[in-house]
Amino acid sequence: MNKKIVLLLLVISSFISAAQAETAFTDAMIWDGSGAPLVENATIVVGNDGRISAIGQNVSIPQNAEVISLAGKYILPGFINAHGHINSFWDEPGDEDIYDYMRSSLKRYARYGVTTVNSLGDTSELIEIRDNEAGTEGMARVLASGPRVVARTTELAAEDTQMIIATGVDSIKIGIDDALGMEYKMPWDAAQAVHDTAEANGLSVAAHMFYLEDTKRLLEMGTHILAHSVRDETADGKFLNLMRSRNACYSPTLMREVSTFIYAEEPAFLEDEFFQRYPHPGQTQRVLGEDFINRMANSRSAALYKIALEQAIKNVKIISDANLPIALGTDSGIQARFPGYFEHMELWMMVDAGLTPSDALLSATSVAANCLDLDDRGSLVAGRWADFIVFDENPLEDIQATRSIESVYIAGEKVSEN
Ligand SMILES: [Zn+2]
Repeated sequence: MNKKIVLLLLVISSFISAAQAETAFTDAMIWDGSGAPLVENATIVVGNDGRISAIGQNVSIPQNAEVISLAGKYILPGFINAHGHINSFWDEPGDEDIYDYMRSSLKRYARYGVTTVNSLGDTSELIEIRDNEAGTEGMARVLASGPRVVARTTELAAEDTQMIIATGVDSIKIGIDDALGMEYKMPWDAAQAVHDTAEANGLSVAAHMFYLEDTKRLLEMGTHILAHSVRDETADGKFLNLMRSRNACYSPTLMREVSTFIYAEEPAFLEDEFFQRYPHPGQTQRVLGEDFINRMANSRSAALYKIALEQAIKNVKIISDANLPIALGTDSGIQARFPGYFEHMELWMMVDAGLTPSDALLSATSVAANCLDLDDRGSLVAGRWADFIVFDENPLEDIQATRSIESVYIAGEKVSEN
């Protein structure tokens, strides 16, 4: 064989073996998100396809693998936010290109360890980002629902739903709420048409709701994800039974209520180092603006949502005690709801509400994955995506330790800090 060709083949084969090099993360304490206890001295091997090829205590490390020791560190699955938004409401129109905006939003989530976001209410550009970019270059993975459906007639409801499905969404978002008597609430026959159209196309429905009685009716219609807390009354037996018999999930979004009143005074979290780790100067400035503060301080709905939060806190504990699935959700990404940081505050609030750290963390991992019908993430198991968070301290012992993020990996690639 020609010497040049041999040399070329050697070069090519060395490239191939470099590309195929696996990575082994060793000596870590791993909580795999399945509900099993923390395992010490464990290893995760990530293949060149970004998926976990082996995990556990007695794992042999492939010869060519790059070895990264994580001695003394805790590994948990990347968090899944079952209710966020990747849209442009957060910035002034024209501030940034909408695609750039969505990219920076997905990066912000990822840096905070939120490696998948279920976006409930967005524009169609997100579908392109989802298909071509999300999950790479330090961006969180994303699911899209298109815009929220609120229609006046059954015909319009079916038409709108069909049109949204045609764009390639993962689920349908419906809105059943009068916003404390201030907005239009869609008629029930139209809501039924949304559910029927989604079901006929094999898609599930996530609902923006507020009232207990509305929520029961939605569950009867087949709503799969209750995308907010029940905030007017205490969750009763009939509601819990409906959730169970319909296999529904509950995404409390406690931080959504918090965001409606907390800015009436300067909130303490703006001074939190963990908040400032990935600064969002324009938005921080905006919530500190006099106009914004005055609007919050004088808002009647803010006062009512503060009361609603108390009810929501009671209900999340009742639903957790009933062993029903709770999926982490925040409604972040909309104005005054900071992507990434709010997910941590939501976890801390769930524990304050009476859930164990483990229950809160399950809601952010395998339970959220099950609720979203994702079988390739949410727990650290061979064959699944190597989406995980490395912590310096143990969040299972103290949920506040979620702020001790050392690094985040998506498909085995380290998420860049900048
Ligand atoms: Zn929302």
